[in-house]
Parts: sequence; structure tokens; C-alpha cells
Amino acid sequence: MLRPDIDPRPGAGMIKGEFYRPGDIDAGLWLDREVQLNRQWPEQLKKMWQGRIMWSSPMARWCTLQVGGPAKAVALPAGEAELAALLAILNDLAVPWRVIGRGSNILVSDKGYDGVIIVLGREFGAIDILASEVAGYELVRVEAGCGLMRLVNWTVEHGLSGLEFAAGIPGSVGGAVAMNAGAWGAEIADPLSAVTFATPAGKLVRRERAELIFAYRHLEKGNKVVVAAEFLLEKADGQKVDKVCRQLMENRKNKQPGKVASAGSFFKNPVGMPPAGKLIDEAGLKGLRVGGAQVSEVHANFLVNCGNATAQDFLDLMGLVQAKVNERFRVWLEPEVCILT
Ligand SMILES: Cc1cc2nc3c(=O)[nH]c(=O)nc-3n(C[C@H](O)[C@H](O)[C@H](O)COP(=O)(O)OP(=O)(O)OC[C@H]3O[C@@H](n4cnc5c(N)ncnc54)[C@H](O)[C@@H]3O)c2cc1C
Repeated sequence: MLRPDIDPRPGAGMIKGEFYRPGDIDAGLWLDREVQLNRQWPEQLKKMWQGRIMWSSPMARWCTLQVGGPAKAVALPAGEAELAALLAILNDLAVPWRVIGRGSNILVSDKGYDGVIIVLGREFGAIDILASEVAGYELVRVEAGCGLMRLVNWTVEHGLSGLEFAAGIPGSVGGAVAMNAGAWGAEIADPLSAVTFATPAGKLVRRERAELIFAYRHLEKGNKVVVAAEFLLEKADGQKVDKVCRQLMENRKNKQPGKVASAGSFFKNPVGMPPAGKLIDEAGLKGLRVGGAQVSEVHANFLVNCGNATAQDFLDLMGLVQAKVNERFRVWLEPEVCILT
């Protein structure tokens, strides 16, 4: 069925408010229309969204691996309302989009991303204490753009325990919830009480912890955006919390490569097997290099950027490591890093 309100002829002008939606393409004729509308989306977006946006922004600037070609646009909403409006517009325009936090667990191809990357940054940084119904605990609401380290330092200052494991993880709260980030046997799902999401249609919804399904480095959330998280944190001696955090940071320093670009552990630990780093090490792959990407000599599950790596170097090195580990141990390592294409 052709939509009667849109002139499908190639070259026909678009009227504001009339946009292609998936499902409109019922005849070959619409393919021309689709191509045409897709070419027009940057212009449409400029007209409809007045927030902060950077065009053709290299993704290497937005991620800790420091590789990746340009995103057509990187948008930085100023708050929840602006984020909701942006999502609704992108949904209407059928523009591909992804949301990121600090980019500490992503790999974007050298071709870049043909859509909008939404960055939740400092504008989403509020930390508030809410009324807690549990004696001895504080309920803390944190916006998704807050850095994990900033939050951990805040819990030390306020004498609250439950997030010590996150000391040294360089991501945002939104990224940590989306990835169910964890370390030292604990994960972000443990102290979590609720999450507020923005749906792709731009609606805000709050979900209790019991309604959420977490797995190892995974939250089942569909394509919803984490806007804020609530944590139930135990009242504790701030100095003791600080001591634990410092100890865990020290452990990290001893086990992980220092000031070199990486995305942390590149592969997930396979179920029922030794950790990925041990398998890679025992396969003799420490120091293996493709172009500027290398398996760290310090921690074999860290693939590091020696300074001049491309995203393709990392993808090739990833494939090589997977093949060699599979050859030796009959297990295919799954990347923990999210590959955005
Ligand atoms: C040196 C180093 C050490 C690390 N150590 C650890 C560790 O000990 N444990 C651990 O688990 N991880 C670790 N990481 C990986 C990474 O820091 C975590 O996964 C972190 O939680 C990712 O947060 P981010 O904001 O950087 O997410 P990004 O890398 O920006 O995004 C990661 C994924 O989450 C999604 N996402 C991000 N924000 C949102 C949002 N608001 N709503 C919905 N989806 C979102 C993105 O689409 C993407 O799929 C380490 C990384 C580095 C570089």
C-alpha cells in the first residue's frame, strides 16, 4: 500500500511532518523514496533538533581504543527532556542511532557510523540521595552520564558501601548498567535498585531491579537508553570504604597495562573454562601484533593500541586470537567489547 499523503516520485519535495517509516516500503517505487529520504535526514535533523550536535566527528575521539572513522553526527543532549525529544525525532526519521557513555568498551569501524551517536556526558551527571525505606542503607539516584570513578569517590565521601568493586573502571554509570560491568566477583546489578530508561519513542520508564534481566556483562534492555540508576548502598565508615577502593585500584595497577589505549578486557570469559586472558596467554599470544594493535604483554585479555592502530587492525587481531585459541582449546572467544557498525 502506498501512503496517500506522500508523493513517492523521486525528487518530490518533503513536507515537514511526513517521514518514511519502516514498513512503508511495499513496492520497488519506494526504494527511490527511501534513498532520497535517508540522504535528507541530516537536513531534517538540523531543522527539528536544536541541541548540541557535531557533524562528521571521528569516533577515535570518543572511545578509549582511539580508533574508528567518523559518525555522521554525535549528539550531546542537555538533559532528559532533550534526550527524549531527540530519540522521538530519530525514530520518526528512521535514522540509525546508538548511545554511548565514555566509549571505554566500544570499537567502531574505520568507515565510521552512518547515523547518530548519542553521548550521555556531564549533562547527565547528577547524584541525589532519595528517601530510603531500608534501615542502614541510603538510596542513591545517579544519572547515566556520571563517571563511575566520580560516583565511587562520592560514596567514599558519604560513607556508603556497595560500589567499591567499580574503583578504576573508566566507564559511565549508563555504560556500566548496560554492560553489567563488574570486577572482583561483584557486578553493578548487585547494589542496583531500579533503572530509568528512555524508550526509542522518547518515553521515560522506570523499572525495578526485579523486573530487569542481567547476565554476565549484559542487561536485556532492547534498544532503550539508560537515563539513571538507583543504588541501595549500605552506610559504612568512609575510611574503610576508601581503603578497600585503594587496595582494588592497586591490584588493577599490578595486573593491567598502564597508560596505554585499550578497552579493558577485550573478550568475555568463556563459561566453564579458565579466564580468556589465561587461554590467550597459554596459546602463546602475548605480544602478538597486527599493524598497531597488540595483545598486551602485561594482561593477555587486553588488546592495546600501540599508537597508530586502525579499527581494522583490532578486528584482524581479534579474529587471529579467536582462531588460535579455538585451535588450541576448542573454544571461540566472544568479544566483550561492543562492535558498532
Ligand atoms: C582500562 C580499562 C579497564 C576496564 N575494566 C573493567 C572492569 O574491571 N570491569 C568491566 O566490567 N569493564 C571494564 N572495562 C570496560 C568498560 O569500562 C565498562 O564496560 C564500562 O562500564 C563501559 O562504560 P562506558 O560508559 O564507557 O560505555 P561505552 O563503552 O560508551 O558503551 C558500552 C556499551 O554500553 C552501551 N551504553 C552506553 N551507555 C548507555 C546508556 N546510557 N544506555 C544504554 N546503553 C548504553 C553502548 O551502546 C555500548 O553497547 C574497562 C575498560 C578499560 C579501558
